[in-house]
Amino acid sequence: MELVDQYLRKVNYLRVSVTDRCDLRCVYCMKEKMQFLPRKDILSLEEIERLCNNFIDLGIEKIRLTGGEPLVRKDIIKLIEKLNDKKSTTNLKEITLTTNGTLLNKYAKQLRENGIERINVSLDTINPEKYNQITRFGNINKVFDGINASLDEGIKIKINTVVIKDFNENEIEQLINWTDSKKIDLTFIEVMPMEETDISREYQFTSLTDIFDRLNSKYKFQKSSHKTGGPARFYTSNFLSSKIGFISPLTNNFCASCNRVRISSTGKLFMCLGQNDYVDFRDIMRKDYSDNYIKEKIKFALNIKPEKHDFMVGSKINQYMKRHMNVTGG
Ligand code: SAM
Ligand code: SF4
Repeated sequence: MELVDQYLRKVNYLRVSVTDRCDLRCVYCMKEKMQFLPRKDILSLEEIERLCNNFIDLGIEKIRLTGGEPLVRKDIIKLIEKLNDKKSTTNLKEITLTTNGTLLNKYAKQLRENGIERINVSLDTINPEKYNQITRFGNINKVFDGINASLDEGIKIKINTVVIKDFNENEIEQLINWTDSKKIDLTFIEVMPMEETDISREYQFTSLTDIFDRLNSKYKFQKSSHKTGGPARFYTSNFLSSKIGFISPLTNNFCASCNRVRISSTGKLFMCLGQNDYVDFRDIMRKDYSDNYIKEKIKFALNIKPEKHDFMVGSKINQYMKRHMNVTGG
């Protein structure tokens, strides 16, 4: 079974936001005073599992759990255990996680025991004060401990860094040296206009094109065929042992090869991160519709997956999507 959208793109990758809550408040992701959703609005773990199972039956091969912070969700390991069991009987090949890393020290062992082999850790700086500032109150040592604990368990780590104007643009080489010394791949991401935070996006957004050019003249990049199933373009360098990736949704649109859809923590299926349309599965599940009906709705949603996102650059960078990044996760 395969899921194919109206533009004949094979969709085999599902990202699931398991909670809108988080133990940090990164300035480009959330407002300082966030109003989180009442718990009854959030899908139960059983509802998430049921929805995932229907997607898996239809051909989803990879699931990424995200949030909010996925590791603050109570009993998240139980969900991972259930999904991991599906790998032996279905086409599901991989379950991964995008996390801020603060709770990895606590969970690394259980994650590995339940089939997690790769994790993306989001980290925008390795400077403790700047980390505290960008996350509004985070302690970077928790992330370092979490990364080390995961590496000790044999979990492959990739660092995701959002490049923020006048914040970490000049720290890029330092981050590259740090990840290279740990033999960890590193991906840079452009700030996307997801809902309003307390700071205007024009003060956060910087184009990765210029940064790529600057790094390329130093590292003499060679295009890598490495693929993670996500949107990053990877490069190798004779000067580095690890790979460097670039995710540039605004300046270098990658929609033609989009292979993914996203479920929010309330069960809304977003066919595109950069569009506002969705199909709501929470009501469908809570009104006791059958799995066959859910599958029909998933196919319907794929048929209206848009060709490309609506993110704007330049003077239109402040035209926001109507939801924060923690609704659908990264
Ligand atoms: N809390 C987890 C974490 O930080 O990895 C998972 C959820 S977080 C929303 C997923 C990713 O989205 C992180 O890498 C984060 O840096 C990124 N992100 C958040 N807001 C963003 C924005 N406005 N533009 C680009 N990336 C963003
Ligand atoms: Fe939390 Fe991740 Fe958003 Fe930061 S980026 S506030 S860690 S959800």
